[in-house]
Amino acid sequence: MPYGRHIVDNDDIASVTEVLRSDWLTSGPKVKEFEAEVVSLCEAKYGVAVSSGTAALHGAMHAIGIGHGDEVIVPAMTFAATANSVVYAGGTPVFADVVTDTLLIDPSKVESLITPKTKAIVAVDYAGQPCDYDELLTIADLYGLKLIADSCHSLGSSYKGKMTGSIADMTIFSFHPVKHIATGEGGMVVTNSQDWAEKIACFRNHGITTDPKQRMDSGTWLYQMEELGYNYRLTDIQCALGLSQLKKLPYWLECRDNLAGHYDNKLISSPDIQPLKNLEQRTHARHLYVVRLGTGISREVVYKALHKDGIGVNVHYIPVYMHPYYKREFKFAEGLCPVAEEAFKHILTLPLHPAMSTADVDYVLECLGRVI
Ligand SMILES: *Cc1c(COP(=O)(O)O)cnc(C)c1O
Repeated sequence: MPYGRHIVDNDDIASVTEVLRSDWLTSGPKVKEFEAEVVSLCEAKYGVAVSSGTAALHGAMHAIGIGHGDEVIVPAMTFAATANSVVYAGGTPVFADVVTDTLLIDPSKVESLITPKTKAIVAVDYAGQPCDYDELLTIADLYGLKLIADSCHSLGSSYKGKMTGSIADMTIFSFHPVKHIATGEGGMVVTNSQDWAEKIACFRNHGITTDPKQRMDSGTWLYQMEELGYNYRLTDIQCALGLSQLKKLPYWLECRDNLAGHYDNKLISSPDIQPLKNLEQRTHARHLYVVRLGTGISREVVYKALHKDGIGVNVHYIPVYMHPYYKREFKFAEGLCPVAEEAFKHILTLPLHPAMSTADVDYVLECLGRVI
């Protein structure tokens, strides 16, 4: 029982097979269709599909013009790619601590990190729960910063009635198989800004302003490279899978919510296993089910014992600046974000994905209880 896993059914296979028999394997109609569907789900205006969530983050940094000497505030408790994208663009990540009971970026810590070099804040909807966007938007407005939502955990969630994707300046999604929907690898930037969407569409295609289909449709061979871009395109094959997967998202979100609710109910009075707190006025996409183990419990012992029982528990995440690369290249030292560091020692991600049953949840908790 892995901590997360995709589901691929016959409809998905048929959808991909149809593209394999068509004229466009990449940069064709399925890309536009997939972008339109994600944008509609998010109640936003523009979507640019790219080859991964990481490429989407990189594209967002490019669009807002991050470069040498710029600082971008990112939470310590996230996947390395959030901070790496700042480094790709030539900027410097500045790590903000998180809130103890949610592990979401702490708006009260963000403000003190702002300097004249700060250009943007990246908020991560950790485990699938939307961040405190009102507070973050207020800070961003006050200091003239851009707010990027790394919503790789929270496709389909909402905050105060607004869909994730329609709140921040730009929102990033990933379609890696462990996330809510899979395209193999894949990602998207969603935004209401036509300017940024166009910049990222160009960035994903070597910095060339038109794609082959646009040139074919307008009867010209001429293409021009306006700036240095990358090959970050998502293929029609992948988008066909994404379109088919997206149809099942509402049902999968419901499954995740039921399973996570079952964990919550069973753990309500457990002294040793504490779930994270669910905040009001938002719907949680329930990507990861993270618990905090009591301080007297060895996570290593628990981790090994559960893996012996076939339960793929995991740890999300080691604070990014504690990775050897960041310590070496940016001289980050332990003690920078004490809440994230303390949480990191005790958190454990329990299996949660739509193919599980509530009996599976009971089994996980039974094994966990026995080990403890
Ligand atoms: C998965 C993930 C990414 C990167 O997405 P990929 O599609 O794997 O490149 C970035 N940020 C967070 C928080 C993620 O969970």
